Amino acid sequence: MKVVIIGAGIIGVTSAYFLAKAGCEVTVLERHPGPAQETSFANAGQISPGYSAPWAAPGIPMKAVKWLLSRHSPLVVRPKLDTAQWLWMLKMLGNCTETAYHRNKARMVRVAEYSRDVLEELRQQTGIEYNHRTQGTLQVFRYAKQMDGMHKDIDVLKQFGVNYEVLDRDGCVAVEPGLQRVREKITGGLRLPHDETGDCRMFTIALARLAREMGVTFKYGTEVKTVLHEAGRVTGIATQHGDITGDAYILAAGSLSVRLAKTVGIHLPIYPVKGYSINVPIDNEDEAPRSTLMDETYKVAITRLGDTVRIGGTAELNGYASGLPDSRRDTLLHSFRGLFPNVGTPDNTSLWAGFRPMTPDGTPIIGGTALSNLFLNTGHGTLGWTMSCGSARVITDIIMKKTPDIDVSDLVYPRIKAA
Ligand SMILES: Cc1cc2nc3c(=O)[nH]c(=O)nc-3n(C[C@H](O)[C@H](O)[C@H](O)COP(=O)(O)OP(=O)(O)OC[C@H]3O[C@@H](n4cnc5c(N)ncnc54)[C@H](O)[C@@H]3O)c2cc1C
Repeated sequence: MKVVIIGAGIIGVTSAYFLAKAGCEVTVLERHPGPAQETSFANAGQISPGYSAPWAAPGIPMKAVKWLLSRHSPLVVRPKLDTAQWLWMLKMLGNCTETAYHRNKARMVRVAEYSRDVLEELRQQTGIEYNHRTQGTLQVFRYAKQMDGMHKDIDVLKQFGVNYEVLDRDGCVAVEPGLQRVREKITGGLRLPHDETGDCRMFTIALARLAREMGVTFKYGTEVKTVLHEAGRVTGIATQHGDITGDAYILAAGSLSVRLAKTVGIHLPIYPVKGYSINVPIDNEDEAPRSTLMDETYKVAITRLGDTVRIGGTAELNGYASGLPDSRRDTLLHSFRGLFPNVGTPDNTSLWAGFRPMTPDGTPIIGGTALSNLFLNTGHGTLGWTMSCGSARVITDIIMKKTPDIDVSDLVYPRIKAA
């Protein structure tokens, strides 16, 4: 079977790899000159099934008001004359109920847990290198109230058999000795020992190389203009280099999937939620983080990647606005220096921004569409790296008409099992 994939981010490349492994003839169309040059370029490096949770949660509307008034806010909203932005925010608010949160978190954990297992198998089979570590993640709480709030999440972790450890201050320092210097600032933490970390870009580039060796064709520098369709089927993909045809098509174009889906009348509820990251080369190994820490107060992820620390965060609702304001870097560094004051000097040139392809319920969109041979693997939002291998394996099974290993009936769009 000939499969055409739009997008060579982490989602498109993992899809290409698993489809090639299943015996398909795969072509990937990418407008950039190589893989992982958009949102998969410099994310925070967490493979975090245990931390998988929608941003739409009970209490978020109140917190949002408080955040918008604070200097180092995890949330930035720039209201625009754009119905897509307002509709998305309304739908997200609609998901801030207990019921929706529990349902959405359960979906995310299911995909992410599966994905981590698929990644582990892939790693064993290929020996792929991407500066990975398998030392878990630690959600750090600075306030007692945050510790109280963690119990809802623990219910879902229990439901899915996800291992976790509730730690006091000493427990946090034992896992991340670099926190010793600031121990008084910490109340406790939630450790997810089976979470992992790694460089998403390095992985995507290495996997694209493996996929090419397996026969996948990557057409870089190829901008998709529109998806061609007739009589309920996609008939081809129009690019500036001509039309590309196949038997099945996957839209894996990150936040830009919205524009391409529109060309076939599909309106995806995905909004580009901008985030930022920065690197700090490590000068002081003794006090450096060992794995990923999630600073719950600022919603900033601090991840060890080789001899560097990657710090990522901020949710900015501002359309596709380009720009790298100093204030965003300051917030990331404020969180990092608060926990690791003595690790190294930030590489200020590394400030980067990417657009998370975010659905209002936080869950990715994986599955078929009204067009019989068009499939979606997109909308992975905050955790596309975490969910990539599982999502790719699932979409491969769907296309190959095999039953996926996990329930995916509630991942299609429109959601059919929404409460
Ligand atoms: C600051 C930040 C931190 C993050 N941290 C984490 C983390 O720690 N862990 C985690 O799991 N996730 C994290 N994420 C989320 C994760 O990075 C994304 O979910 C993931 O990269 C999305 O991958 P993708 O392949 O869907 O999209 P992309 O990487 O954006 O890839 C889509 C590709 O499609 C191509 N494309 C689009 N339109 C066209 C067209 N018309 N023609 C041709 N090509 C096209 C684009 O050029 C792009 O290469 C983070 C994101 C940000 C911004």
